[in-house]
Amino acid sequence: MSLEKIWTVLDILRWTSDYFKSNDVDSPRLSAELLLCEVLGCTRVQLYLKHEFVLRKDELEKYRSMILRRAKDREPLQYILGHTEFYALRFEVNPSVLIPRPETELVIDTVRELASAGVFPNGSPLRILDIGTGSGCIGITLAKIFPNAQVVAIDKSPTALMTAKRNAEYHQLPNISFVECDVLELSSAERLGGVLDCIVSNPPYIGKGDMAELDREVSAFEPEIALTDQSDGLSFYRKFNELIPELLKPQGWMICEFGFGQANQIEKLFSDYKPTIKNDLAKIPRVVYLQRFD
Ligand code: GLN
Repeated sequence: MSLEKIWTVLDILRWTSDYFKSNDVDSPRLSAELLLCEVLGCTRVQLYLKHEFVLRKDELEKYRSMILRRAKDREPLQYILGHTEFYALRFEVNPSVLIPRPETELVIDTVRELASAGVFPNGSPLRILDIGTGSGCIGITLAKIFPNAQVVAIDKSPTALMTAKRNAEYHQLPNISFVECDVLELSSAERLGGVLDCIVSNPPYIGKGDMAELDREVSAFEPEIALTDQSDGLSFYRKFNELIPELLKPQGWMICEFGFGQANQIEKLFSDYKPTIKNDLAKIPRVVYLQRFD
């Protein structure tokens, strides 16, 4: 892209869309638009009203560096933008947190369905624990949907927790608190303010041996600590299984995401609790939910 040329919004969108296409970038036109919105500080609708607008040199320079990061460095779009959407809410993201995935919305849907089925006691506020909160997407979304619930979100990574706290502030949620804590070291609910009605988690579930097969856009940019347990991908579920009687109230619920091909092992691992498995929109088994009973 020549910085000397006069570029209108429409011209540069066309050019970038072709450039992204020839470099095999996903969603070329949408990516071009979202990056340009970021540079011009406008929405996509506003962009359509600015088609004849001529970009200033500093705007062009900024845009050029962003499209190079995307097409050449293969940096994920969400990190370049610095934000993404999850359950129609805005979340800041940066390389210290996993980019929220659409399939994780199934965790939220499952909690909502359980709540509408009336499984949670009313009376005292619902206490929810989000293990490995990352950007905070699961815990924050639940805190927003259930304003009377109290959410505790934990993560081992201080930089991830700082991001999650900023996201909670952005959404002005008073009903979520954060604790820096490694769940693998946890043995009771003491540090969490007591036992909970509901545990949610999308833990690192990629086995060490499968890391090499990940897309480079994921493995080179997203935090390893959020992707893999450095073992067989099931370490966190084994720990959760041990922790259920310590962390959950009797009759409490746990809802977790798991990875492709793990459904059978997950069912076996939690067999004491008669787990139910749900498929995502691509019909891939993706979420397990179960109730504590003794
Ligand atoms: N809970 C966050 C998410 O689902 C982070 C998950 C993780 O880091 N494994 O995006």
